[in-house]
Amino acid sequence: MTNTAVYTAFSQGALGQVLIDRLDEAAQFSEPGSGVTRLFCSQEHRDVLPLISHWMEQAGLTPQLDAAGNLVGRCSKAQAGEKTFIMGSHQDSVIEGGKYDGMLGVALPLLALEALKREGITLPYGVEVVAFGDEEGVRFPTTLVGSKALAGSVTPDQLEAKDAEGTTLQEALIAFGCTPKDIPHIARDPAKTLGFLEVHIEQGPILEQRNHAVGIVTALTGIERHRVKLSGKAGHAGTTPMDMRYDALVGAAEMVLAIDSVLQSTDNLVGVVGKLNVHPNAVNVIPAQVTFTVELRSPDANIRQRGREAVTAALQEVATRRSLALDMENTYSADAVTCADWMMASLEQACAHADQPAERLFSGAGHDGLAMQALTDIGMLFVRCKDGLSHHPDEAISAADGEAATRVIMAFLQQLGRP
Ligand SMILES: [Zn+2]
Repeated sequence: MTNTAVYTAFSQGALGQVLIDRLDEAAQFSEPGSGVTRLFCSQEHRDVLPLISHWMEQAGLTPQLDAAGNLVGRCSKAQAGEKTFIMGSHQDSVIEGGKYDGMLGVALPLLALEALKREGITLPYGVEVVAFGDEEGVRFPTTLVGSKALAGSVTPDQLEAKDAEGTTLQEALIAFGCTPKDIPHIARDPAKTLGFLEVHIEQGPILEQRNHAVGIVTALTGIERHRVKLSGKAGHAGTTPMDMRYDALVGAAEMVLAIDSVLQSTDNLVGVVGKLNVHPNAVNVIPAQVTFTVELRSPDANIRQRGREAVTAALQEVATRRSLALDMENTYSADAVTCADWMMASLEQACAHADQPAERLFSGAGHDGLAMQALTDIGMLFVRCKDGLSHHPDEAISAADGEAATRVIMAFLQQLGRP
């Protein structure tokens, strides 16, 4: 393999435009309305499968819908049970989402494989590309069913999750033509899996700010959520003197600012107070009770712990000073998942090969890698998106960036084959 051979099949610039055109075509499979709405096991999901199958065939893969609603394209080596490298992303979108979140990571590796195939390059290992059915968790109150199925971690209760119409995930899969009882059989053998790589739009502004087309993901963020209950004392808003009030909302307001100050002053820690309820929530009553949520995210468990400790201390200080009762309860927590060192190093080499700067950054959002990490080493390549925007009809990438990322993946796949 020489460097120049990679660039002859698709002329410079053509690859990026093909990618954009394909993603435009896929975006037509959507519920009516603004942007793209394509939910798991929906008519739109069914309708987009022939298009993805066509891309898979162009790439030399054989498409098949699996028991969990994933469309999986496998090359002959993968079908024969040889060691296989998995790529892919999710086909589903949020309500009125964009064209790229998810589908980019399906279309792009398929285009990279097609470009290699046109060059007559055969990879010395098996490859499969997966269009996972569900990552966004919009239709069912459960998510990552497809990637969990590959990792062998789907539990029976997940299949009982119901959508808004009361249809269970199991019923939806059967209606979609899948056999959910076979889900345990599609778990991949870790010994035969070389790794999992997902290409995804960044969903943030960093690459745009740095003027880089792609970035190498170091980790998928860890998340924790807390419910904070702050109790004061209700009272008449006209007759209670200001210095005799125990106003839970004023205390909560101070706490929100204290949390923001911890977050602003800590690198690699982000968070939000996203939900707040005031009781009794009346125009002329001093607020007696406020409950609010605190969410903290960091790719580093120690930073997240120190952030939690700083937030807790700040809340206690405000509560004590204002004589308010404070109750804080942890409601959710998920550990960060780290991308494999060899995958990051190999992506870095591939970026150098494709003349792209290779900045490392962490993902503040969850992805299929969270589930796939239980099966195999994971890696992620981010692609710059316009204004850092995602989950929005205006989500966009440029053809040039799409081309750059495709060429990085082509280089990565060829490197992986070298001894
Ligand atoms: Zn996504």
